[in-house]
Amino acid sequence: MPTTPPPGPHRAEGGSFAVLDPATGEPFAEAPDQQPAELDAIVDRAYAAWRGWRADPDARAAGLLAAADAVERAAPDLAPLLTREQGKPLPESHAEVARTAARLRYFATLRPQTQPIADGRPMHSEVRWRPLGPVAAIVPWNFPLQLASAKFAPALAAGNTVVLKPSPFTPLATRMLGSILAAALPEDVLTVVTGREPLGGRLASHPGIRHVTFTGSVPTGRAVARGAASSLARVTLELGGNDAAILLDDVDVEQIADRLFWAAFRNCGQICMAVKRVYAPARRYSEVVEALAQCAKKTVVGPGLDAGSQLGPINNAPQLARVEHYAAQALADGARAAAGGYPLDRPGYFFAPTILADVPPQNPLVTEEQFGPVLPVLPYRRIDEAVEAANGTGFGLGGSVWGSDPGQAETVAGQLECGTAWINHHGELSLAQPFAGAKESGVGVAGGPWGFYGNLRPFVVHRPQEA
Ligand code: NAD
Repeated sequence: MPTTPPPGPHRAEGGSFAVLDPATGEPFAEAPDQQPAELDAIVDRAYAAWRGWRADPDARAAGLLAAADAVERAAPDLAPLLTREQGKPLPESHAEVARTAARLRYFATLRPQTQPIADGRPMHSEVRWRPLGPVAAIVPWNFPLQLASAKFAPALAAGNTVVLKPSPFTPLATRMLGSILAAALPEDVLTVVTGREPLGGRLASHPGIRHVTFTGSVPTGRAVARGAASSLARVTLELGGNDAAILLDDVDVEQIADRLFWAAFRNCGQICMAVKRVYAPARRYSEVVEALAQCAKKTVVGPGLDAGSQLGPINNAPQLARVEHYAAQALADGARAAAGGYPLDRPGYFFAPTILADVPPQNPLVTEEQFGPVLPVLPYRRIDEAVEAANGTGFGLGGSVWGSDPGQAETVAGQLECGTAWINHHGELSLAQPFAGAKESGVGVAGGPWGFYGNLRPFVVHRPQEA
């Protein structure tokens, strides 16, 4: 592959763009608006760095462990910057930084296993595993660091190099993270690029990229897959969700209300696998609506940097407009706001935590992904109706079942068409588990050894068996 002279990873030939604080709606910093043309040199350097990085698994592990320590040490700078640009309460930003370090440590210890093939023939065959080359990691704005690490940690551990592109809404903490990692790892092994479209489109379709790992919305995921088709790069897509929580007849509402509420509202509902619909037995319906409405009303909403804020602003103005639109449409269609239902009258992108009852089942708030602090609660009469409704969208990321009889909850959970089903909680993931969506929620697998092997290709060696 030809090597072009390097322009410097963070030089922005196209100037810069403003980054807004969602708690005020005001710009507070700028990030380089790197141009698609700069990518050629960056990808060339990632390719050149791959030769050394792929060669020595022990050095890789040591580098990734050192990087994890450095990320942890930088938490006092990284976490407030993340809150400033993303909006989430500061303790949640600290948790995100901690998760980023934990992921580096987890993947640093994984090694591909050589597997012999025993098929009865007089041959010795074995499967070895090889890295792919430069990997493009494209990340949304809801968990900029955590989702980036879900991509770069397994890719780097497997011996690939990475070009990482954050969302233009949240480029700053990722740039800081990029500098921290660059200091701990060999040059050009991980490069952060920031800029507005068509930067992501160019990265996804770049001929020097061998794997595009993307997290974001379904429409952008389709565009990424189309772009990667031009170079036939591998694609891993983690896309949207519309997770249902089904409450069973015997559920202890008082006991679970708080947990269920936060499974829907943490990070202001901007989580792919947040609870986005609640199905409650008709005879318990009012009780469930009222319990969730009480949780919403007592939630402290405020800037993420204010001590005591439990819910920050929505990340950006288009997303606030989208959430307002979904809520208004549902209310116009006959829904009732048991709590909230309106944007807060203050600067920034704040929306009152909202519980909507009596939403028509085919309303877009139920069938699409609202990705905000608005939760529809729907009644059901028979459990098979609830399961059918839960499975009745194009998404299939996660789902949960809540009840007092573990056997029944397990049976219902087994009927959900999704990648992860939870019982009496929702949203928790282990670093060691596979994370994959059914239907339009994704292609490929992230997480655990599955995500690690997703960054490797099999290489088979055959030889006659020695006598
Ligand atoms: P998005 O699809 O708008 O953008 C995601 C990333 O893609 C950003 O970096 C963006 O700049 C980039 N991008 C935009 N156009 C592109 C193009 N044509 N080619 C390549 N890259 C392009 O998503 P968002 O609004 O930032 O995030 C919200 C969405 O992400 C929601 O749908 C949510 O469910 C999803 N999400 C999924 C997961 C998961 O693991 N399944 C996790 C978090 C978020």
